[in-house]
Amino acid sequence: MTCLFCKIANKTIPADIVFEDEAVIAFNDISPQAPVHILLIPKKHIENILEFNENDDRLLGKITGAIQEIAKKTQMDTQGLRVVTNTGEDAGQTVFHVHFHLLGGRSMQWPPG
Ligand code: AMP
Ligand code: ZN
Repeated sequence: MTCLFCKIANKTIPADIVFEDEAVIAFNDISPQAPVHILLIPKKHIENILEFNENDDRLLGKITGAIQEIAKKTQMDTQGLRVVTNTGEDAGQTVFHVHFHLLGGRSMQWPPG
């Protein structure tokens, strides 16, 4: 198994874990782009958001619930957060295990680069 985020999910490589349940895990990004920069991933390997299917409805609910819980824990629920999932190379995806960047703790610009 070569996927970096699968290895983080099954704890064969360490990460700074901030949230976990049976379906998802979240950890601090190794190269933070904001004061809060957390990556949320499903434990199951899915390449990107386009690969979810109708069997993943429960998992998508878990992901939404985890975003809400992490936002509360980090005060991003009141101050705002940006949730980003880069999909494919043009969008800047470098790890091909779907992940949601949860960014906050500063004001953000739009449009993104
Ligand atoms: P993306 O470019 O959207 O695919 O995002 C991949 C993210 O993974 C980047 O923000 C990296 O900084 C982050 N990253 C890469 N390796 C690790 C690691 N071992 N632990 C935590 N974050 C990582
Ligand atoms: Zn994976």
